[in-house]
Amino acid sequence: MPEMHAVQVARARAPFEIVEREIPEPGPGSVRIKVQACGVCHSDSFTKEGTSPLVQFPRVPGHEVVGIVDAVGAGVARWTPGQRVGVGWHGGQCGYCDPCRRGDFFACQTFTAITGITYDGGYAEYMVARAEALAVVPAELSPVEGAPLMCAGVTTFNCLRNSGARPGELVAVLGLGGLGHLGVQFAARAGFRTVAIARGKDKESLARDLGARHYIDSQAQDPAAELRSLGGAKVILATVTNGDAMAAVVGGLSTDGRLMVIGAAPSLTVSPGQLLGGRLAVRGWYSGTSIDSQDTLAFSVLTGARSMNETFPLERVAEAYERMLSGKARFRVVLTMSNVA
Ligand SMILES: [Zn+2]
Ligand SMILES: [Zn+2]
Repeated sequence: MPEMHAVQVARARAPFEIVEREIPEPGPGSVRIKVQACGVCHSDSFTKEGTSPLVQFPRVPGHEVVGIVDAVGAGVARWTPGQRVGVGWHGGQCGYCDPCRRGDFFACQTFTAITGITYDGGYAEYMVARAEALAVVPAELSPVEGAPLMCAGVTTFNCLRNSGARPGELVAVLGLGGLGHLGVQFAARAGFRTVAIARGKDKESLARDLGARHYIDSQAQDPAAELRSLGGAKVILATVTNGDAMAAVVGGLSTDGRLMVIGAAPSLTVSPGQLLGGRLAVRGWYSGTSIDSQDTLAFSVLTGARSMNETFPLERVAEAYERMLSGKARFRVVLTMSNVA
């Protein structure tokens, strides 16, 4: 049987191992993808560190995948070998349970398919994915450009477009890392009056280059007061993982404003008085399904929004993962497959 290189995690907190495995065959309803690039997302730590109860080992991580369809299983309509596709966190749905019948595929009750968590992901030369989990990747995007959009991109873009903010309204993006640097670009290109909030003065010029009209240094200024002085934010996209940093901006929301939470902070304390006085809301947002990813890719081509990436060949996966965890990468880390023999 032909073999491939894959990066597996044998058990919780085990080192990454580069192994040779049989190239998998796609079953009914699935396709095989020859992987070109795969982003390294902070959520890959669920697999690496074994912090999700859904992970079964050994597991190949990776849910920011771009590659070429190279085999199609039985019963698959539309997808054909040679098409370039992406796979994100959402790995598929049944289509017949009650949430699916309401169109809420992310909440499928029949099974939880999460790429790189409940089945093998994109840290490999080939992977198998369910057909409904695929997004078309436009020719204008390179594999490395496309990969981070499959999780970081769709999460920020899909959250913003479902936030209720309208063109011209004040939208703030809290945090200027892997998620935030995309959030600022999407918000500005969607026509929002975009504010970037980050720590320190040194990120201001980058924020403005990405499209922010205003910059708030949360170390030197009170971000809530600054937002109020700008008229108050209709939406604040919270990309940070610190609940106190989120709580510190709630006072900067305008009437009916929303704090949209996509950063997985351990906890968040908000004053009920503050919420009811301003008719405010705190809302979480799930990244999105395959069509949301496809829309994200298309919007990125349309507007020129791009992730800033550091690339590593697959065999340097351990270094790539450490770089991602360090928080120092500018801004997403992407694995490429071409340098593997
Ligand atoms: Zn992710
Ligand atoms: Zn379902």
